[in-house]
Amino acid sequence: MKEYAVIGGGIGGCLTASLLDVHGHDVVLLEKEPTLGGCASTFKHGHYHYNAGATTLAGYHEGGVVRTLFDTINVQPKLIATDPAIVVLQGHNEIKRFSNLDQCIHEIQRSYPHPKHTEFWNLVYTIGQNFYPLKGHYYSNASLSKKLRSLLSMTPILKKFWPYLWKDARRFIHDFYGGISQDYCDFLDAQILIVAQSTSEHINFFTAAVALGYTFHETHYAVGGMGKLCESLTSRIHDVRTHTEVTSIHHEKDRFILKTNTDCLETKNLIMGTTHYESGKYFDTKKIQNYYHRYEKLNNHQSAFVLYLTLHSNRPFHHHYQIITQEIIPHTLSKALFISFSDKSDTDIAPQGFFSVTASIHTDVRWWVNLEPSRYRQQKKELTQLLRTLICDTLHLDVSEIVESFAATPKTFGRYINRTQLGGNALTMKNILPSLPSNDTSIQGLYHVGDTAYAAQGWPGVAMGVMNLMRLIHE
Ligand SMILES: Cc1cc2nc3c(=O)[nH]c(=O)nc-3n(C[C@H](O)[C@H](O)[C@H](O)COP(=O)(O)OP(=O)(O)OC[C@H]3O[C@@H](n4cnc5c(N)ncnc54)[C@H](O)[C@@H]3O)c2cc1C
Repeated sequence: MKEYAVIGGGIGGCLTASLLDVHGHDVVLLEKEPTLGGCASTFKHGHYHYNAGATTLAGYHEGGVVRTLFDTINVQPKLIATDPAIVVLQGHNEIKRFSNLDQCIHEIQRSYPHPKHTEFWNLVYTIGQNFYPLKGHYYSNASLSKKLRSLLSMTPILKKFWPYLWKDARRFIHDFYGGISQDYCDFLDAQILIVAQSTSEHINFFTAAVALGYTFHETHYAVGGMGKLCESLTSRIHDVRTHTEVTSIHHEKDRFILKTNTDCLETKNLIMGTTHYESGKYFDTKKIQNYYHRYEKLNNHQSAFVLYLTLHSNRPFHHHYQIITQEIIPHTLSKALFISFSDKSDTDIAPQGFFSVTASIHTDVRWWVNLEPSRYRQQKKELTQLLRTLICDTLHLDVSEIVESFAATPKTFGRYINRTQLGGNALTMKNILPSLPSNDTSIQGLYHVGDTAYAAQGWPGVAMGVMNLMRLIHE
């Protein structure tokens, strides 16, 4: 019998399995796909490679939560620093989000002149500077005493950020500036959405400031593709099984019995790296199914439509762009498209003179999964064409420079990585911490990591959850 089995080789599963291995535990990592990474994987399609979703590595600065875990596992990934972290394109405006505060304010001031920018962006910067070193805190809702301990551990955060917790960010920002233009509001919301998975009217100003401020810390490009990070994290684990899909789980008093597409295995402890919305179906006991059912209300059905391109171009490109349009783009939830280019020196992912491009936009799962096949194909084609045109027009590309292009809908993600909801739980004013699932559960030996558990999505959010899980396991 294994001591730990981890289901799913996404960021959460890979970090967890590696840390357990480093701590000397007997662990197996099970992943249904041939490659690791999930939303942060890299795959081959035709002749070229693509990042499936995630393209920016945040949290790897000195002392950052991701860096701390990589250092513990003793892995030094091959990275390139990206500064500016994003180039935002909105109408005629081009705003480079530099990590340097003064440079960043200068860029913003040029496009949306306002006397209060220095004060506002200094506040955003300071909130981030105070928050990031905290590396999360103890969080569990597995029992009443653990809930109380979590509340106590949250006290320093509550104290420090009290004035920014109670008002929604949109109102806070409007009051702060005494009114802002629609363009500037869209500029802020587009960046808040990619980190917090929600817009300013639904989150408090503290969350908005942390989301807006991630560019003030180093951000990195992963050489060879984002998937390389998960592969390198797990390279020393003895038992990593790809092509292995868990199909059902039976719980007995002191063990879990997992049935996979290849065999059966028993484990004392089970760590789910799958989403809370897709996990209940594996279990045959009502108690565990009910546990997951409780969190169904957090499912915002948010997802992504992703366009993958290979470009052949002599032009230089930044690593990341965000194009903001005047209106919400049809079949999506947003006015903003996030576009990432491979580094021109990274010939592992695209040959010399070529660029691998991943462009993503928020959409709603329900607008895709229940369509009849011809309507689905039509809608996918329409949105693909729309985004291709938007990218070509805004970045002044000739269509002939696109040598390959295809797209993924929420349904595509469902087929490959067993999830249609993407981006995890949004930290809205309604979904405040005590209502979010923690990394342990009330079921002995059953744990959770990934972007639907504490703390949130992306490398830093998932890493905070993994750190919390390690605290809970080893306490
Ligand atoms: C389009 C897009 C862009 C993003 N951009 C960024 C970014 O730039 N930077 C950033 O930090 N974050 C980004 N994110 C968010 C980030 O990618 C996710 O929050 C994070 O990767 C989720 O990790 P996870 O641990 O929850 O695992 P997941 O990515 O959900 O992976 C779960 C894994 O479990 C496997 N699995 C599922 N079911 C089974 C089963 N039954 N048996 C075995 N294996 C199974 C899946 O195949 C998958 O590999 C982006 C997300 C998307 C969708």
